[in-house]
Amino acid sequence: MGSTEVDIGQPDRLSLADPYTVSTEYWHELPDGRIQCDVCPRACRLREGQRGLCFVRGRVDDRIVLASYGRSSGFCVDPIEKKPLNHFLPGSPVLSFGTAGCNLACRFCQNWDISKSREIDTLTSAAGPETLARAAEQLGCRSIAFTYNDPTIFLEYAMDVADACRERGIRAVAVSAGYVNEPARADLYAHMDAANIDLKAFTDEFYRKVAFGRLGAVLETLEYLASTDVWLEVTTLLIPGHNDSDAEIAEQCAWYAEHLGDRVPLHFTAFHPDFKMTDVPRTPPETLRRARRIALDHGLKYVYTGNVHDADGQTTRCPSCGEPVVERDWYVLGEYGLSDDGHCVHCGASVDGVYDGPPGSWGSRRRPVRLVEHGAPAGPHDRRTAPARTDTGNAAAATESGR
Ligand code: SF4
Repeated sequence: MGSTEVDIGQPDRLSLADPYTVSTEYWHELPDGRIQCDVCPRACRLREGQRGLCFVRGRVDDRIVLASYGRSSGFCVDPIEKKPLNHFLPGSPVLSFGTAGCNLACRFCQNWDISKSREIDTLTSAAGPETLARAAEQLGCRSIAFTYNDPTIFLEYAMDVADACRERGIRAVAVSAGYVNEPARADLYAHMDAANIDLKAFTDEFYRKVAFGRLGAVLETLEYLASTDVWLEVTTLLIPGHNDSDAEIAEQCAWYAEHLGDRVPLHFTAFHPDFKMTDVPRTPPETLRRARRIALDHGLKYVYTGNVHDADGQTTRCPSCGEPVVERDWYVLGEYGLSDDGHCVHCGASVDGVYDGPPGSWGSRRRPVRLVEHGAPAGPHDRRTAPARTDTGNAAAATESGR
């Protein structure tokens, strides 16, 4: 079976008889007989047997189903800084996993083998909520991350896994493009402790032409999350010639400061040629430093560079006294100057974030995980509260979320 842990079958057609397919709530009937999925702004309008753009949701028996509940494309333990989250349990290990499919279609996707998969056999591992929570605990992880592809499209599964983890004191992290509608958005993030959201660019033209989405919907999600207790950090992948002009970065930072405030960490990360964008060069480190300077000039307190070695651009400084409080180089922590509850040891000021004890020491390791070593393979018996709605209507060696 190779790396396959459990043979969970490869259904060609959607069927509620498939134990990994569940009914969902976010859809309504249209006058022409189609059913519209309401999870994301894509608003797929489906006839019987059709799948949405994300591939894992589709219409069967006159309802929208999720066909990847309890299926995964693989697991790793990563440093939390890789999500990236620099203000959330620094240095700690996070159990990371994804499924398949995506509701955007970015030409530069860095995880296209997963996110653009149209083969259910990408989902080679069975992984129910209890099994995942147990594995995270046994591996010493402080959190679990829905990443590699976007949890928006498998939110019922993500919410149940988050609940199972929470019962064991393990927090939940969503790494997402933020392309999601209400009420799915509020439901998903009510179960999350932290999120890193991609802000892929600051023009609607980029979103339409390069990601096949809309900027406005992502900005709504960012504003929503900034108003909740979910710890929020934001990532912009800078692509040479596409979203890296001074003017666009300045416009983004001005909006950011006004709508999200100056305390939401912003990460500028480096692009490498991939998928349908192999004709664009890597992002020069100087571009990341230039973007960071622009953001700092707009008053943002926590601005980072990523996917490059840049100790200055990756170190957290106290927003009050300016002293370095968490030194970093790539994903490795250096000198640590925070109290267990996140106060600067130099001046006593509070540094924004989620801190709970001393920092972790996971380092930059990436450890692949085989779930069979952490208990019985999950299956439909391990399903939690996935909705069984039958009435009609009204009612994603990888990078993070396709970056
Ligand atoms: S979640 Fe999937 S099926 Fe639903 S609207 Fe978005 S892309 Fe379409």
